[in-house]
Amino acid sequence: MADAVDAAGLTAWVQEFARLVREQRDVLTELDAAIGDADHGANLDRGLTAVVSALDADPAADPAAVLKTVATTLIRTVGGASGPLYGTFFLRASGTLGGGDGAALAAALRAGLDGVAARGKAGPGDKTMLDALAPACDALDEALADGRPLDEALRAAAEAAAGGRDATVPMVARKGRASYLGERSAGHQDPGATSAALMLQAAATALTGRG
Ligand code: ADP
Ligand code: MG
Repeated sequence: MADAVDAAGLTAWVQEFARLVREQRDVLTELDAAIGDADHGANLDRGLTAVVSALDADPAADPAAVLKTVATTLIRTVGGASGPLYGTFFLRASGTLGGGDGAALAAALRAGLDGVAARGKAGPGDKTMLDALAPACDALDEALADGRPLDEALRAAAEAAAGGRDATVPMVARKGRASYLGERSAGHQDPGATSAALMLQAAATALTGRG
């Protein structure tokens, strides 16, 4: 069986992320219309479409190179706060990805999470993408430490991300555009946490059954 986190697996992950964002583009836009400027769906769809084209045109040879192409393409093509943040996530993940197993993937995602937190100066409870990414990394680490196979661990991570996304609804935003609304940001699901949950859902789908 192929290594779970080889270049083909990671490419499949990003392609699935792009497909989900395209499918959910209007939902992401509506969420951002409520507490931001209604561009999150368009921003990410544009960026991930460019990522898929870049990987089609010039398939990356190794796993870290896939993530690096994702990072540089997102930074170049996605405006707003989320482009540099997702770009940082993939750049840090690329720089950390060592081996080709679940533990290597978990370490890479954790490095990406830490990069987003540092770049955005945000923490848990600030109503951002971190509120989906952090529980996902925790769930992934925990499942792997329990000796569960990577596909099960990624499903646990995706569920944790979805739970973290839902938990952003009552939060008051402390970072990004939504924070301009103060208390009025409560009662709305964060767009970035919603797209981050799609990224984890894509990982669970695309990397399942590969190792
Ligand atoms: P913009 O807010 O510039 O229009 P997007 O709409 O594409 O950018 O992305 C908005 C999302 O970015 C928010 O829903 C939030 O999850 C995330 N975000 C914004 N600021 C930060 C930050 N400082 N740290 C982490 N995530 C952030
Ligand atoms: Mg926006």
